[in-house]
Order: sequence, then C-alpha cells, then structure tokens
Amino acid sequence: MKLPITGRCLCGAVSYEISAKPIGAGNCHCRTCQKSGGTAYTPVLFVLYDALVITGPYKEYPTLADSGNTMNRGFCPQCGTALFGRNSGSDKIRPVNAATLDDPSIYQPHMDFWVSSAQAWDIMDPGLPKFAESPKHL
Ligand SMILES: [Zn+2]
Ligand SMILES: [Zn+2]
Repeated sequence: MKLPITGRCLCGAVSYEISAKPIGAGNCHCRTCQKSGGTAYTPVLFVLYDALVITGPYKEYPTLADSGNTMNRGFCPQCGTALFGRNSGSDKIRPVNAATLDDPSIYQPHMDFWVSSAQAWDIMDPGLPKFAESPKHL
C-alpha cells in the first residue's frame, strides 16, 4: 500500500492524508452510518489517530454510539460528504470513510460489523467474518 493515502470530499474543500498503513478495514452496517451516508453501510478504514491529517473547513456532528461514547462525524459543510469520525472514547484510532479515498480500490474489508442493524436489501460478502455489533478488538 502506497503512502500517504489521500482522499477528499465531493467538492474538494476538505481533503486528508493518511501517513501510516491503516490497522483495519471493515463495513459498518449500523443505522447511524446508514442515515449519515444515505447508503446500506459505510466502508471504514481504521487509521491511527496521529496518522490522519485533515485540510479544510470540515464540521462535526455528534452522534451517540452504542457504547455510550460520542462519535463525532466529520463532514464537508459545503457538499455534505461524510469523511471521517472521532470517537470520544478513543484517542488511538479514527475511522475514515473509504469511499472518499482518491483511490478507493485499495480498500479491502476484512469484516462486516453491526450486521444486526443491516437491511434486508443490503448485500454482503458471505466470506467475511460477521459481528452482530461493534468488534471488541477495535
Ligand atoms: Zn465538500
Ligand atoms: Zn456505523
């Protein structure tokens, strides 16, 4: 995987660089991802906190995670693209929406999580491990 990994929102006002290899990747099927992304699931790269450098005037919208923590969902206020998150319970890992990568083909999910909230019209790879809720190791 070539570093840095880069990505941006639809209009380009917000961009980011990931300077270290992501520590995980998986598809989140939770209701909040469905709503905020307007889609069946969010493809998530798990990135070391300090490896993500953001440029541009993004905004955050706080949502309550099942853990009781707050997931601050970062988005572009101009075009509305959901880009990345910041969990109040973690200063080690940040989730990044892999659909916003400049080269989304590098994304290789190794699990599905929050499948208990998945919709009947959601299509998943049967070969990937499934977690009913959030995987405990992340
Ligand atoms: Zn934008
Ligand atoms: Zn989610």
